[in-house]
Amino acid sequence: MWQALTTGSLIAHAEKYHGDTDVVSVEGDGSLSRSSWREVGANARRIKSALDRLGVAAGARCATIAWNNRRHLELYFGIGSGGRVTHTMNPRLTPDQMIYILDHAADEVLFFDRSFLPVVAKLVPHLRSVRHFVLMGPRDAEAAGLITGLLFHDELLETGDPATEWPDLDETAPAALCYTSGTTGHPKGVQYSHRSLVLHSLGGNQPDGLAIAARDTVMPVVPMFHVNAWGVPYIAAAVGAKLVMPGPKLDGESLARLIEAEQVTLALGVPTIWMGLLAGLKSTGIKPVSLKRTVVGGSALPPSMLREFRETYGVDLIHAWGMTETSPLGTLNQLLQKHGTLEEGARHRLRECQGRPPWGVDLRLVDEAGHELPRDGKTQGELQIRGHWIVESYFGQEETALTLDGWFDTGDVATLDADGYLVIRDRSKDIIKSGGEWISTVELENIAIAHPQIANAAAIAARHLKWDERPVVLAVPVAGETPDEQDIRAFYEGKVAHWQVPDRVIFVEALPLGATGKVMKAKLRELYGDVLLPEG
Ligand code: ADP
Repeated sequence: MWQALTTGSLIAHAEKYHGDTDVVSVEGDGSLSRSSWREVGANARRIKSALDRLGVAAGARCATIAWNNRRHLELYFGIGSGGRVTHTMNPRLTPDQMIYILDHAADEVLFFDRSFLPVVAKLVPHLRSVRHFVLMGPRDAEAAGLITGLLFHDELLETGDPATEWPDLDETAPAALCYTSGTTGHPKGVQYSHRSLVLHSLGGNQPDGLAIAARDTVMPVVPMFHVNAWGVPYIAAAVGAKLVMPGPKLDGESLARLIEAEQVTLALGVPTIWMGLLAGLKSTGIKPVSLKRTVVGGSALPPSMLREFRETYGVDLIHAWGMTETSPLGTLNQLLQKHGTLEEGARHRLRECQGRPPWGVDLRLVDEAGHELPRDGKTQGELQIRGHWIVESYFGQEETALTLDGWFDTGDVATLDADGYLVIRDRSKDIIKSGGEWISTVELENIAIAHPQIANAAAIAARHLKWDERPVVLAVPVAGETPDEQDIRAFYEGKVAHWQVPDRVIFVEALPLGATGKVMKAKLRELYGDVLLPEG
């Protein structure tokens, strides 16, 4: 029997076979709402039918500016599975970037959480394509006064039919759209087809992948506006897992309490979130006994974090790598049978790397001329990827984003070993080239962060008269500590080659973070790129 691979089939399964399973959501006012897959499914159908009644065309983009919550989940399916495109927007972008993106995507509807009302009210006069603004909540007189014709999610639901069928769609039709944060140039849109979202859900959730099961309680802390929360909403629907949506409260203490209250078994997020959680567990004294695994990705995992989670709390930290262009799952760290006999230190080192590709994606390394490099765990090269859920071209662009032989160039510099274990050494634009030799900023950062007086660190290439570039580390001291520059430099000796020790360690109060919570290296290079040059 042939059936199209559509996201509607995922939510239909959750409604029918896991209808009673909880979907828990922290709302904007901090309250907890409890719903179920049955209710989420019915409301998603109502959204679909309400959009039909509003005359929103099939294939139209509908944007969301929202946290991880129940209504956002309803929109994922109500918009996307209903034959339109769920376009998740990053609320941390500047108003100018938002206007650019909404215009570029030609969004017809904009759904937003109450907390973004002031932002959206300012955008309204500048938006050319948006015909309907929808506040994700009940009717609200103040908001209605700010935006003419404003609609309300909860009222919209009442106009929709909960028995609407999920449409038969072409599996290659788009279901979701997400823009990369674009550290250089304009943001670029990556559109996900129904087929790629379903295959990503199946391929990424294999036993050596995310391995989410119906008995799990899953908390995606990674935002729904960041690569579809790594695909978790779709996967959770496919397997009927209980979902816990943490809303806007992402500080460590709130997350620790939520994990305890809802007995979360698996949580997913970026390293900065888990640094916060570790601090939150300490300050509250909460032992996250239900938590078995956390998946960490988006930027390099500091090795010290791996140990702390495992040794102090018995939580397995799983390192994963991916990008907006890869849906995002590219690799995930699980061990092979032969690693059972590895001694502790070697096993830890292996667990620190970004892991291996699941079925569905394929990786290779190439040199600057595009020739394939050996997978020996030592040779560094440009990482390329291909597979069922990898971008082919950016949204609205005719030209392919692929190489002549059909691979996507990630812009990351990496090594691969014979088993396919990936180590990300850098992003190609961040790497330091000292006298023609490469120095990995990730490695320098991990060493600094392992020092007891350093809370966070970023390494950059600073211009140098003799060596072209030399490493400089910007380090944030642990509160109350006043580390010494020479001590920190000495801490590198023996851990990296002598010539890789940073020339300077400069202490700063905080590192500049971009919209997805990653350190903005370009900004740091602007500020500190000339510190090694003679003055004047
Ligand atoms: P952007 O950071 O440009 O918004 P993405 O969120 O798509 O875009 O980020 C993708 C990039 O993040 C990758 O190319 C890689 O450089 C970095 N990254 C993602 N996961 C990891 C990881 N586990 N370790 C190191 N770097 C990572």
